Amino acid sequence: MTDILRVEDLKKSYDGFVAVNGVSFSVAKGELKALIGPNGAGKSTCFNMLTGQLRPTKGDVWFDGEKITGRKPREIWRKGVGRTFQITGTYQSMTVIENVQMALMSHHHKLFSFGPRAWKLYREEAFEFLDTVDLADQADRPCSVLAYGDLKRLELAIALTHRPRLLLMDEPTAGMAPTARVALMQLVADIVRDQGVSVLFTEHDMDVVFAHAHHIMVLNRGELIADGDANAVRNNPRVQEVYLGGGTLFKEAADA
Ligand code: ADP
Ligand code: MG
Repeated sequence: MTDILRVEDLKKSYDGFVAVNGVSFSVAKGELKALIGPNGAGKSTCFNMLTGQLRPTKGDVWFDGEKITGRKPREIWRKGVGRTFQITGTYQSMTVIENVQMALMSHHHKLFSFGPRAWKLYREEAFEFLDTVDLADQADRPCSVLAYGDLKRLELAIALTHRPRLLLMDEPTAGMAPTARVALMQLVADIVRDQGVSVLFTEHDMDVVFAHAHHIMVLNRGELIADGDANAVRNNPRVQEVYLGGGTLFKEAADA
């Protein structure tokens, strides 16, 4: 068994409007796979059914051979399906390393010991996670002063503390400058290679997708129209029809 995730005939409809329509695919262990498609194609809806945020209208999701369709988000997360969360609110006033320590306390079920002494806990382990995302030198800075790209790397470090076997990243580089986007995805690719974790991500920047993804899936109006390597997807007539005929994704790639 080499698939970490398998999705079969997944469907989500809202009052007759079909957002995701009979999608089937798999993600292999240690694979970095992209899900692309125009705005409104159904990418986020698809992700939310994988994490348990949305219940599918039809179809099934298997994680590491176990059916997880309709399970609660926390249960799915505990099994090893991670996702990145935005750092907001009070977490912004905490330091970089404190945010990672909090995540580690939660992972080790030690949040009850939260208090002044708690900050000694897991500091060393937290440093290792910061090192993985090249943020160790910013460990004691408050999150509120971090550059946007650094904040995204911290969010990645926090997601990794739960040691996910599959990490789902919905538009991880949104709002970032092109060079920062490439750097973040390079970091993700390194983590996939070094730690054997699988990653499924959505992304608008085609340079990032074609440079880093092992395989690419294309969703259009809720339907999967391609699933293959960069060459196969580029040369797929249905994909060309969607993106060359007035679409923006390949135009952006050509302009870059
Ligand atoms: P993407 O992430 O690819 O941009 P989404 O998954 O967010 O697309 O949305 C897919 C389609 O489903 C869109 O047309 C969107 O308007 C619709 N949609 C998403 N959520 C809901 C909802 N709660 N109720 C009705 N329609 C929705
Ligand atoms: Mg989306």
